[in-house]
Amino acid sequence: MRRVYLDNASTTKVDEEVLNAILPYLKEEYGNPSSIYSIGRNAKKAIEDAREKIAKVLNAEPTEIFFTGSGSESCNMAVRGIANSYKDRGNHIITSKIEHPAVLETCKALEKDGFQITYIPVNEEGIIDLDGLREAITNETILITIMYANNEIGTLQPIKEIGEIARKHNIFFHTDAVQAFGTIKIDVKGLGIDLLSLSGHKLYAPKGVGALYLRKGIKLKKVLTGGHQERDKRAGTENVTGIVGLGKATELAYENIESTNKKIQELREYYISEVVKRIPHIKVNGDLEKRLPGNSNISFRYIEGESLLLNLDIKGICASSGSACTSGSLDPSHVLLALGLSHEIAHGSLRVTIGKDNTKEDIDYLLDNLEEVVQRLRNMSPLYNG
Ligand SMILES: *Cc1c(COP(=O)(O)O)cnc(C)c1O
Repeated sequence: MRRVYLDNASTTKVDEEVLNAILPYLKEEYGNPSSIYSIGRNAKKAIEDAREKIAKVLNAEPTEIFFTGSGSESCNMAVRGIANSYKDRGNHIITSKIEHPAVLETCKALEKDGFQITYIPVNEEGIIDLDGLREAITNETILITIMYANNEIGTLQPIKEIGEIARKHNIFFHTDAVQAFGTIKIDVKGLGIDLLSLSGHKLYAPKGVGALYLRKGIKLKKVLTGGHQERDKRAGTENVTGIVGLGKATELAYENIESTNKKIQELREYYISEVVKRIPHIKVNGDLEKRLPGNSNISFRYIEGESLLLNLDIKGICASSGSACTSGSLDPSHVLLALGLSHEIAHGSLRVTIGKDNTKEDIDYLLDNLEEVVQRLRNMSPLYNG
């Protein structure tokens, strides 16, 4: 059966060139990077090459990049790390209502430890309110953590303005850039970002590797204790293959960024315009300009998101009802609720995220099946009457 993969915000297929870059570190150069013999030193060198590649695209120094086991770990390291290292300065953290659980749940956990958290709302297009951010700042505020691009609705936040506000008030600024990295050009110095989290598997590298940018001079209590890897910031033998893959994927993503984004965005625009034309009673979620090129999120009234996904799966189509982290639960997405959608409408949402390997044929296949499935499900719904 045909498989059409349209869930690239959830994870991506490892790129062929990335795979080829990784294989020697499984087959021949398998030494422990902390060892002094040659295959250990070669592995160590590969890690440092990857670090340089990531530093370069972020306009950072290689010594400001730390490898981790995931985007979630990077976010934990950043948020918990600042909270624990600077609690003598204050106990207040500002975040947004639409963060990924990696940040949201970490903030909730810190609340139990005595920190005060302000969750800034977003407007109905999914963009945070800068005045709300300014008003939330107190003498106790030590950290602003706001995501670069949202994983469910793809909206891009005003990162430069947030960076300026943070700097003006001498507050650290962390951004979860897991969705943005590889798709958006990010200059951490120009944007006033102090800490930034990213993850390999969202940009065609393997799962289980992430990185944290930590501006020079910021101290961070480590979350994982043990050996002295990553300049004593993150214990554990380095995931050499993952790190090599992340380095290669970073290089590839930024080499081809304009042409890839253009192609992906054209497919996204085609998809949305056809859905609007062919299927009534829908709502397109999230700002259409300030948005990742490949993300679409549409609510279909009178439809249950899970049934829609199961029926698309029967046709070989992989999509999402929001995020992999919330699917499996029956609670509607906290992001869609933050936009002001009712529970009923939020439940019938479909996230289609287009990647670099998708084609117009994929989108046409999705559109034909979507039209048929939505009509069929609506005909079965007691609430729908034509
Ligand atoms: C995927 C994702 C994460 C988590 O990254 P993992 O590497 O899967 O732990 C965090 N934030 C956002 C915005 C994401 O999309």
